[in-house]
Amino acid sequence: LGSGPQQAYFPSPAPGQAPGPAAAAAPAQVQAAAAAAVKAHHHHHQHAHHLQQQLDIEPDRPIGYGAFGVVWSVTDPRDGKRVALKKMPNVFQNLVSCKRVFRELKMLCFFKHDNVLSALDILQPPHIDYFEEIYVVTELMQSDLHKIIVSPQPLSSDHVKVFLYQILRGLKYLHSAGILHRDIKPGNLLVNSNCVLKICDFGLARVEEPDESRHMTQEVVTQYYRAPEILMGSRHYSNAIDIWSVGCIFAELLGRRILFQAQSPIQQLDLITDLLGTPSLEAMRTACEGARAHILRGPHKQPSLPVLYTLSSQATHEAVHLLCRMLVFDPSKRISAKDALAHPYLDEGRLRYHTCMCKCCYTTSSGRVYTSDFEPVTNPKFDDGFEKNLTSVRQVKEIIHQFILEQQKGNRVPLCINPQSAAFKSFIR
Ligand SMILES: [Zn+2]
Repeated sequence: LGSGPQQAYFPSPAPGQAPGPAAAAAPAQVQAAAAAAVKAHHHHHQHAHHLQQQLDIEPDRPIGYGAFGVVWSVTDPRDGKRVALKKMPNVFQNLVSCKRVFRELKMLCFFKHDNVLSALDILQPPHIDYFEEIYVVTELMQSDLHKIIVSPQPLSSDHVKVFLYQILRGLKYLHSAGILHRDIKPGNLLVNSNCVLKICDFGLARVEEPDESRHMTQEVVTQYYRAPEILMGSRHYSNAIDIWSVGCIFAELLGRRILFQAQSPIQQLDLITDLLGTPSLEAMRTACEGARAHILRGPHKQPSLPVLYTLSSQATHEAVHLLCRMLVFDPSKRISAKDALAHPYLDEGRLRYHTCMCKCCYTTSSGRVYTSDFEPVTNPKFDDGFEKNLTSVRQVKEIIHQFILEQQKGNRVPLCINPQSAAFKSFIR
């Protein structure tokens, strides 16, 4: 967010706080740019179905989160709301990147959950011959958990509880959709000025593989948050890898420093066994031979879990109990998002979230009306069957082009980029 006023935006999650002051606090020139952006767009490649008038969207400021692509803060000319615009560049370089981007796009359009970032819109693509980049509009979030953890801003136990509650609430939804995020880290947990948290960046996400004989790729999760089964070379892993990452983040929220900050994957594993003790052979059953030999060659370590109480004065019995259920070496014994949400440590976070932060409950003159389902799941699951028949760049390009046009079926006026805008040149780089 650069020089933006997000520091001042990060408040305590107090009841009754008005959400989303970003638009009100935006610099004057941004408002002017928004007004200037509302004009009919002269498109070089008119499609027959572009009957509605199109509106330009004008990038004004980079904000930059996400592993793939650039994110800008923009104003939606249809309603003046501040939103985030993500450019997915170099989509059509090869089949692998085509598929990755299409999967992410499909997921962003599939998600309907307040703790998971989703696509509000996709900008109109040009004629397919000129179609090189994809622009996705999402909600604008002022900060992320990494920026907050490294900031001098105090983090109360209420903050920690309401953040952890929302991470697990979003993750329960993702896992119910059959999706592994695979890169849960503080920088991928966006936070707005009202402390609402959304999981973002599905560039590495994929559908879980129920067949244990099928190999899965190793290029997952930033090292500090990487689960021991991945560090030990397991060829198959489950959504428990995301829970491990959440455990690391929970400890980081409490201690304000990275829990396992190692220089290499082997040292990463050593730091984990320093805390958890030497794992049993049973817990290492899916590990590769080399990793198992490394553990057995080393000294036998006793667990040192009580050290977690020294993370912070907020590391209460309840907090450490839940943390220890997440930081379990054996993924089959690690707590699930659903079960973690039932832990008493999260009761206060749930109450706070649904009292003044959620969109699922509402207040009437006679009091708060709570939703019947505090942590909803999705049904049906996300279906990745579309990936099987993607065989060439040209074919995927046509399918993505068609997919984007189909997303416009609603009654909103379609948006496209304004190539005349001052910021456009730096945006397309
Ligand atoms: Zn609610």
